Amino acid sequence: MINKNTKIGFIGTGVMGKGMIKNLLKGGYTVHVYNRTKEKALPLVEIGAVLETSIKELSQRCDVIITMVGYPSDVEEVYFNDNGILNNLKPQSYVVDMTTSKPSLAKKIYAAAKERNIFALDAPVSGGDIGAAEGTLSIMVGGDKEAFDALMPIFELMGKNIVLQGSAGSGQHTKMCNQIAIASNIMGVCEALSYAKKSGLNAETVLKSIGAGGAASWQLSAYAPRILKGDFNPGFYIKHFVKDMKIALEEADEMGLKTPALELSKKLYDKLIKEGKEDLGTQALYHLYNED
Ligand code: NAP
Repeated sequence: MINKNTKIGFIGTGVMGKGMIKNLLKGGYTVHVYNRTKEKALPLVEIGAVLETSIKELSQRCDVIITMVGYPSDVEEVYFNDNGILNNLKPQSYVVDMTTSKPSLAKKIYAAAKERNIFALDAPVSGGDIGAAEGTLSIMVGGDKEAFDALMPIFELMGKNIVLQGSAGSGQHTKMCNQIAIASNIMGVCEALSYAKKSGLNAETVLKSIGAGGAASWQLSAYAPRILKGDFNPGFYIKHFVKDMKIALEEADEMGLKTPALELSKKLYDKLIKEGKEDLGTQALYHLYNED
């Protein structure tokens, strides 16, 4: 039973995790935090989070564990190590992986959790660093309805649009749909701004027009202003976007689905990675069009 005495454990206090944790604290929950690089968790301790020095101890002390780490390999490590979540959490507890990860891994966590009488959901998100900070994320969930309903008060502190998509893995599949749509959209945003610049238009004024018409999109409104300011910090890391596109391409390939726009976007971002730009935000795709 989830109530205000429920202790939440949160692993991964990075760009997304820190905003999500702040909103859980604001909602009145006790939040125990753990991060690989301890320093990144310390500002959260100053505002009331409880610092844990191991995943094992965090798991033994909490009733709901949320993970927001980087890659599927990180997810494997935090869930399945001897000192990891599943070997140390009490039966009847909940685990929610909000990392963007593989649908097959979400199913593996669900099955391993079920054997231990633990409820598991995959719940990746969209809405970026702004959505995490403002508690307006779109949360796409896979797993059992009972667990989804039980955790709704917690999801509602982090997001505004919270949808159960189906059984375990469905949240991650939905997130792949999201990333496929973004892959084309961000190319369009960077191309349009490059065209505006080359044609001698005032890009700010162009944005006023195209941001309010049929070309309006989240990618345009969130990232075009950052591009115009010369701000290429993440937001959303290029290295993570390439990880997502790789997962989506593998899944599409397994289904026999052709995704030419996704392939092109992945190729362009691979170029940026080769240039050493993996730690920039995805809006740095703009550099490829303006490398003179
Ligand atoms: P991030 O800033 O790199 O945060 C990930 C955090 O997880 C880091 O602080 C990292 O620790 C920690 N971590 C990784 N492996 C760990 C482990 N084994 N044990 C403990 N902590 C571990 O990345 P982010 O931008 O928050 O993104 C997190 C996930 O959300 C990614 O899967 C990303 O694709 C997805 N996502 C991001 C956005 C966005 O706009 N940023 C939007 C939607 C979804 P270190 O500090 O040591 O690296």
